[in-house]
This record gives sequence, structure tokens and C-alpha cells, in this order.
Amino acid sequence: MDSISRRGFVATGLALLGARRLTAQDAPAAEPGAGEAPAARPAVVLGDAARKLHAAALVIDGHNDLPGEIRKKGSALDLSQAQPELDTDIPRLRAGGLGGQFWSAYVPAETMRTGGAARQTLEQIDIIYRMVERYPDTFQLARTADDIERSRAEGKIASLIGLEGGHSIEDSLGVLRDFARLGARYMTLTHSDTLAWADAATDAAKHGGLTSFGVEVVQEMNRLGMLVDISHVSVETMHDALRASRAPVIASHSSAYSIAAHPRNVPDEILREVARNGGVVMVNFFSGFVVPAGAVVMARMFDVGRELKAKHPNPADFEQAMKQWHQEHPIPAGTIHDVVDHIDHIAKVAGVDHVGLGSDYDGVTKLPAQLEDVSCYPLITQELLNRGYSAEAIHKILGQNVLRALRQAEEVARGS
Ligand SMILES: [Zn+2]
Repeated sequence: MDSISRRGFVATGLALLGARRLTAQDAPAAEPGAGEAPAARPAVVLGDAARKLHAAALVIDGHNDLPGEIRKKGSALDLSQAQPELDTDIPRLRAGGLGGQFWSAYVPAETMRTGGAARQTLEQIDIIYRMVERYPDTFQLARTADDIERSRAEGKIASLIGLEGGHSIEDSLGVLRDFARLGARYMTLTHSDTLAWADAATDAAKHGGLTSFGVEVVQEMNRLGMLVDISHVSVETMHDALRASRAPVIASHSSAYSIAAHPRNVPDEILREVARNGGVVMVNFFSGFVVPAGAVVMARMFDVGRELKAKHPNPADFEQAMKQWHQEHPIPAGTIHDVVDHIDHIAKVAGVDHVGLGSDYDGVTKLPAQLEDVSCYPLITQELLNRGYSAEAIHKILGQNVLRALRQAEEVARGS
């Protein structure tokens, strides 16, 4: 989840059901030439070789916010039918050849202050369980790397649970353990806001990274076999997490800072540490994180969200104000080439064993051309082929790297 315009959804419950989502289609087009790459690059054309390679690959995505959409829309939302207002539905998941998905159990960071973070996280986990139960021919709950491979062999989409933000545990290791028992396989250490024990990338730093309790959280996650997720956290928190973790860490949905200077993106020094740690940086597709000019505008988004929230206590007013801010600060959508530039960069700096995909579908307001929804993954395979990547390297990027990281985290847990 990186669309701050939707942060109010939990606290307001049904009140937001009628609120319209700001989609890529709603957002105004960028001014011609406003920070677009100098020369437009040609559209990617899917050929037979890429199609075959993709069909044979285990494709695993690190972050999808569909559960938040289900919370808003309720049981009326039928995922077996086309849902053009969303980025995700079953027909397009199948077209995209997805084999595994970490579904995000996201609740807004403001629940730290308003209360109910753990309860709302439990409700989001329930939504994921119920989604899997409603479409048993499509989804299968997965907890381990072996589970993912088993689901894939049965032609189902392995469904994993990711917690987006350490605020969900309400400073309690017992609650962390309970979430692990329910099947949560990663926890992003923070969301947008700095916690009592960890600094976020998009908030004031209070601790210079992790506190000693923050280090304990990381160690307990290692013991539980839960992946430590460094998306959304400050660079100091990334350093501290990498130092504290005995298992590979992931960034479930983060792109490269050297390509697009958003504080949410991962700088090269961390990419090299992730390589040493055996972890994986899974590239976020949000235009505001991948297109260089967009990242500059979006760098202010979380601050603006906090300011507007203070100014507009009524959630509908806040949604409106946020929507207006997005309209007044258009960003270029970019194209699939921008996203593959990030994959390419991470593969060069960290190595091809340390890059993956973490789309953030249904959690963002704008997506690049040819990556508009979950049906588009095969085009990434095509573009990687176009750039000279081997079949083996492409399989790693599409899913084998994160599978390996999860398996290693399980081994560390068994050994503790
Ligand atoms: Zn996010």
C-alpha cells in the first residue's frame, strides 16, 4: 500500500464505501514532456519465446493490496469476473501467469494513535483467508516454500500473508507470534510513520534506525521463519535490520534510489548489503517510485497526507483533498521500460540473485504503460529477454530468488 489517499479506509469503515478510488484512469495525464524520458521507447511486443519461458516460470509477487479493496467493497466484489476498476481479478491473474502472491494485510499507521491496529490486522488476515476459501480452484494458502511449489504443481496461486507495518503488533512479541501462527510470512518493519522502535523512510527519524526492541523484533522474526521486510523503512533501519537478521531479508515492494530518488527506494549501499545477506529487493511498479521525475514529486506525498489529515478530520474531505493534491501534482506514468530499468540496476549492483517483483498492485494511484494490471507480467519476461537476460536469470527474478530467501529463512528458524 503506497496510496496515502486510501489510508483512512479502516478507521472509517463503511463510510468510505462510496468514495471513489483515484485510479490511473482518473489521474490527469502528465504535461507533455514533464520529466518523461527524452526519447519514447518502443512498446514491448510479447513473442512466443517469452510466452513459453513465462509459462514455465514460477512467478511470485511480493506485494498486492487487493485485500484492502475487498474490505471496502465487501462480498459484492466477485473476483472471478473482470473488475476493470481494480488492478487485480482472477482472469487477469491467470493471464499474468502468477504462481504466488504475498497478499498485504495492511492497516493504516495512524491506528497506532487511534487504536485497534492488531484487531484490524486480524480482520485483514481474515479477509485473505476468506478470499482463498471463496475461490478454492484458484487460491491456496501457503506458509512455506514447499507450499508454494505444491500450489504451483496443482495449478493454484499460492497465497501468502504479508503484514505491512510493525504497528500491527502493537509493540508485542506475543502478538507477532500469533500473526506468525496465522500464517503471516513477512512483516514490513514500518509503514509510512516512524514507530516507537523503528524509523520510517517517510517520517522524522527518532531512533537512528532500530531500537533494542526493534532488534528483538527482527530476531524473533528470524526464530519464527518470518521474512524481515525493509520496504518503507529509513536507510538506517535497513542497515540495522540487515545487521540484526540471521536470515535473508526482503524489500517486498521497493525500487532503486539511484534510478528514482524517492526516500522509499533502496540506495546502492543497501543493495550491496542485501547481496551479502542473501536477500531480495522486489521492485515496486508505482509510477511515483520508478519514473525519476515522478519520484521527486511523490517524495512529498506522505508528508502532504499527514498535513491534509490534520486539516480534514472528516475522511471523505481528506480523500477529496488528497485527490485534489494528486491532480495538482501530476506525475508521468512512465512505461514498463522504467520498471525494467530498476530491475536491471539492482541486478547490476546486487546481482541477479537479489532482485524480484513486488508490484504494489491495488495499492497505488498510477501505473506505467504496459504494466497497468496483473495480466502484464509476461511483458517483463519479454523485456528482460530483449535486454539479454538468460532464461535462468529471468526465472530467478520472476520468483526463484524470493523462494530461495523464504526457504533459507525457514532453515534459520529450524536451527534456532
Ligand atoms: Zn507499501
